[in-house]
This record gives sequence, C-alpha cells and structure tokens, in this order.
Amino acid sequence: MNLPVGLKSKILKNELSCKHTTFKIGGRVPLWIEPVDLDELLKILSLFKREKRRYFIIGSGSNLLIRGKGIKEVFIRLSSTYFKSLKMIKGNIVSGCGVSLNSIINFSAKNSLSGLEGLCGIPASLGGAIYMNASSNGVAISDYVKEVKIIERNLSIKTLQKKDISFAYRQSSLKKAIIIEAALNLDKCSKDKVLKRKEYYLIKKRKDQPLASKSAGCIFKNPDNSKYSSAKLIEMAGLKGASIGGAKVSSKHANYIVNYNQATAEEVKLLIKKIRGVVKKKYNIILKREIIYI
Ligand SMILES: Cc1cc2nc3c(=O)[nH]c(=O)nc-3n(C[C@H](O)[C@H](O)[C@H](O)COP(=O)(O)OP(=O)(O)OC[C@H]3O[C@@H](n4cnc5c(N)ncnc54)[C@H](O)[C@@H]3O)c2cc1C
Repeated sequence: MNLPVGLKSKILKNELSCKHTTFKIGGRVPLWIEPVDLDELLKILSLFKREKRRYFIIGSGSNLLIRGKGIKEVFIRLSSTYFKSLKMIKGNIVSGCGVSLNSIINFSAKNSLSGLEGLCGIPASLGGAIYMNASSNGVAISDYVKEVKIIERNLSIKTLQKKDISFAYRQSSLKKAIIIEAALNLDKCSKDKVLKRKEYYLIKKRKDQPLASKSAGCIFKNPDNSKYSSAKLIEMAGLKGASIGGAKVSSKHANYIVNYNQATAEEVKLLIKKIRGVVKKKYNIILKREIIYI
C-alpha cells in the first residue's frame, strides 16, 4: 500500500502494540499511524476506503486485549497536538478526542465546572470514553455530552447532538464513526469543591481497584439478571488469585485480570474462559465480556 506522498503524520512499521495498551499485551502492528491533523486523517482514510484496507482506531488502549501474532489491521491513534485541543467555548468544554479524561477533569476544576469527578482514575481518552460510554460512581460520560463531532463511514464530517446518539451501559451508537471532538456541558461549582470531589474518588478507586497493575479494567460487564456484581460472583466462585501463565485474577478486585508476569493474550483468554465456565456452572449466569479483543 502506498500512502499519499508528503504526509507529516507519524507513520511506523511493525510497531509493538503492547507499548500502547494498559494491559501491556499485544503483538506487532503492520502499520501504526498518528495523523498530524484532520486533513491528513481524511487523506489516509480515503486511501484505505479505496483499497478496502481494514483499520482500527485506538484511544488510550485501556479496554483492549490485542493478540500476539497475525495482526492485519492498520492502527490509527488520534494523539497528535491537533486532536488534543482543550478549550472553553460558550460555557462548554470542547475537547479533542485524544485528551485524557483526567486532563478534562483538571480543566473542569480550573474553570469551576463539575460533573466528571466520579470518572477520575479511568485511563481513557475522550474518544474511547464516549465510544464505550465510560461510567463510574453513578456518573457516565454521556450525562455531560452536548454534541460530538464525527467522521462517518462515507468520510463526511458531522456534528451530532446528544439526542441523535443513543448511549447505554458500556456502549454508544457511534460504532461505525470516528469521534473527533466533543462539547461537554458541565455544572457550575467552586474549584475547591471539584478538586475535593476528584481527590475523594481517586482515593476510593485506588483503594478498591489495582490501578498500579497492568490491566484493562473490568473484564466483564455486570450482569443484569443478578443482584451481585461480576466481581462479587467471581469472588464467591473462589477465583480470586486464580492464574494461568502470567495472567491472574486480581486479589484486590475480582473483575480485574492483571498481567503480573508477561502474560500473553492467549493466557488472558484462557483465564476469561475459565472464569465464565465456573460462574456459569455455580450460578447459572453468563458473564458478558466488556474488554475488546483485537
Ligand atoms: C485501571 C483501569 C480502570 C478502569 N476503570 C473504568 C471505569 O471505572 N469505568 C469504565 O467505564 N471503564 C473503565 N476502564 C476501561 C477503559 O478505561 C474504558 O473502557 C475507556 O472508555 C476506554 O478508553 P480508551 O481511550 O482507552 O479506548 P481504547 O481502549 O483504546 O478503545 C476502546 C474502544 O473505543 C474505540 N475508540 C477509541 N477512540 C475512538 C475514537 N476517537 N473514535 C471512535 N472510536 C474510538 C476503539 O476503537 C475501541 O473500540 C478502566 C480501565 C483501566 C485500565
């Protein structure tokens, strides 16, 4: 495949994807592209469209399990300065898709705006958070989304109002779109209060979840047909600390698998299979995966 000449974007061949995921798992990607701006992104996408080339948009890589071998997709990460703009426009925070949730929360505090503090500690980019409708402590990113600028499959650029998007538990209707930017409508609040709330949720998350370990966050969604969370079911099934190869069920939070010793994607998948099997057998509940396999 010949990329358009004279591109200023970062283009890497055979890039190791494990460097870009929080699990620190993943093999070599044939082509890794970080477009310098929207113009170059569109040029690259139109070439892929013409050549029917499969690509994958990666955010902060915090919800992914990437296989070790045979990756065919081109990876595109929107992390250049262009996609990291963060500004106030008419009282709304307008953020590029590549900005981290934590930076947006700090920016909201600076501007005396509140709402997203419950999401503190989630290592997501805004694009990934909107795509997955990240949520925590009773707050979902969708609660504060006003509008989202996207590239559609046909490569046209569109700004969707919140009413045009459907959000549900860990999903959005933006599956076929590339999220470029979003406007967030937060509540007025004193800076001190926002910072205190942020600190409270961060301490809570650090206490309950293995944030310092290599993981992809919660492996399973919480079941809607049980009074127990997935973590509780896995714990009751006696699987805390269970391991396969370098992958282990966290002893801090049973819905986390941690890569504690150079785990492979296969080992994580086997452990996931084992957990699902045991929970199904003991409680007749089928756990649904939250993390995405590539
Ligand atoms: C320690 C830890 C704690 C976590 N805690 C939580 C939590 O409390 N709540 C929660 O909901 N999640 C949590 N997660 C999971 C994860 O952070 C979220 O799912 C997050 O929304 C993923 O964002 P990302 O930028 O890392 O996306 P990635 O993992 O890179 O990608 C996830 C999906 O989003 C898509 N995507 C990313 N960017 C774009 C874009 N610009 N346009 C279109 N699609 C895009 C990707 O194609 C992929 O399908 C946690 C993860 C970790 C490691």
